[in-house]
Amino acid sequence: MAFQKVSWVYWISFLVVFTNSFLSSFGYICDVPQEWFQDINGTKAHNSNNSLWINGIVKYRFHPSLSKEDRVEVWKAFEEYHSKTCIRFQPWRKGDPDYTEIMVDSEVCGRAEICRKGGYQFTKFGNDCRSMAVMIHELGHTLCLYHEQQRPDRDDFLDFGNCDEDEIFPIAQFSDELSSAIYDYGSQMHYQCKTCLGGWPSTSGVTKCGIDITPGLSVIDADNINRLYNCQGCYRHRWRPIENLTPDDVNNMYNFGYKSSYGYIYPCRGLVNGEISVGKYSVRSKVCTVSHQGLEYELERGAEVLTIPGGRNQHGATYRLINQRHVKFPENVIEAAVFAGRKSEDEGAGPTFIAFATLKTGLLGTEDSIGMVGLQKGQFQNAIVTINKKVVTVENYLILVCS
Ligand SMILES: [Zn+2]
Repeated sequence: MAFQKVSWVYWISFLVVFTNSFLSSFGYICDVPQEWFQDINGTKAHNSNNSLWINGIVKYRFHPSLSKEDRVEVWKAFEEYHSKTCIRFQPWRKGDPDYTEIMVDSEVCGRAEICRKGGYQFTKFGNDCRSMAVMIHELGHTLCLYHEQQRPDRDDFLDFGNCDEDEIFPIAQFSDELSSAIYDYGSQMHYQCKTCLGGWPSTSGVTKCGIDITPGLSVIDADNINRLYNCQGCYRHRWRPIENLTPDDVNNMYNFGYKSSYGYIYPCRGLVNGEISVGKYSVRSKVCTVSHQGLEYELERGAEVLTIPGGRNQHGATYRLINQRHVKFPENVIEAAVFAGRKSEDEGAGPTFIAFATLKTGLLGTEDSIGMVGLQKGQFQNAIVTINKKVVTVENYLILVCS
């Protein structure tokens, strides 16, 4: 794993130059010293359970510098975490030992201390960055997330062209285990692309990054947080890389009885031309088969299979399939649906869900498949699945939900 050590002084001097000159043109730049990403009390922040917020509860205080409008943006950021993860932001009360103070700082776009420090810490936004999106990003750091463009494998996905070495964010020292197998251009923790800070996407079909794609947490951001905090209930499903599935992962895979002519199939997903496509994983072939714009793709790596640790039913939180045709109130289903993928940028980049379908083949035969379905005006669209090497749209299908 490549790792570039950059000294504190060097990093600060770089940030001072760039924070001032590119504040608005870059979307956001968060002024977090590189050192904070590496060692907290001698352990890597990500790898130390001590630095996670206990039970995912983050106590906060509002600093008087926040205007009414600022508070609205912060509330919206909290709501984003509350609706997609098990993280809960709760007001600080006397006696709570650890908390973050949320404040405005006119010297920065955003700045936050990484992970739970113990005692007081801060989460800031400022200038023309006082938005929900920047607050979601900074709270991501408070919760222990790094920048996506600092992942150890980022050079496989970003090109830094003619940028000088000192303009490029170094790769952070954190474990591969803790990020998704899919590089997430749509992460709220990704800097804006086409700059030396965010890099130029080198995957075909991808032209934008971060804040441009996802107004809130991306599907994968939420999955990463739910994994980091070992969230339970309807947040307990985990997407696992197909190239290193453990026996436990295989036990936790659910096919709901769906089987193709080449064996049992399970929901999987992978990045194809800017779309996180959802499809079917076959244990026999060890391949995740997905579709993108009418073509079938077989992914052998960089794809993930859905697992549901604890089983389909656990303490009243049940994963099950429902027929979208029998649903009177689609919005209730959308709330319970398992978010899985993302449409490509040219198709609106919205989230997609997992669709199970049984199709007729010939006069008597049927074949099961798993694919994806998106939303339009709050309604489910036709699902897209692959069958016998063809991509088909399906009107009748089941959706994976949890409630
Ligand atoms: Zn940041």
